[in-house]
Amino acid sequence: MPDTDWKDKLRCSFCHKKSTDVDKLVAGPGVHICDQCIGLCNEILEGENLASSTEPRLPAWETMTDEQILDHLPKIAAVQVQVDDNLRDWVAHLRGRDVSWERIGVSLGMTRQSAWERFKSET
Ligand SMILES: [Zn+2]
Repeated sequence: MPDTDWKDKLRCSFCHKKSTDVDKLVAGPGVHICDQCIGLCNEILEGENLASSTEPRLPAWETMTDEQILDHLPKIAAVQVQVDDNLRDWVAHLRGRDVSWERIGVSLGMTRQSAWERFKSET
């Protein structure tokens, strides 16, 4: 696909901004984080009481209205799609290395047949 397509498609898994709307997008295992969210995380870490038992969350539920949380749900669903796409990319990369469906299935806790059915390329 053209260079701009994947850049348009990739979004920060935390704030849902497009990669084209941020300076840097760092890829993790199926997720991405932008430079702005990394900045927020750093602020949280710097202000964090180490004894705190609550898990820091971006965005923080406590600061959000019901409407804002509802507005966030489709973004989480979109992240799920992005993670699925990314998993597909990782499997395709392994297939490019001639790694068997058997081994991919074992890694994902599914049968060789299930792995093939889920990840075979459509072409
Ligand atoms: Zn972000």
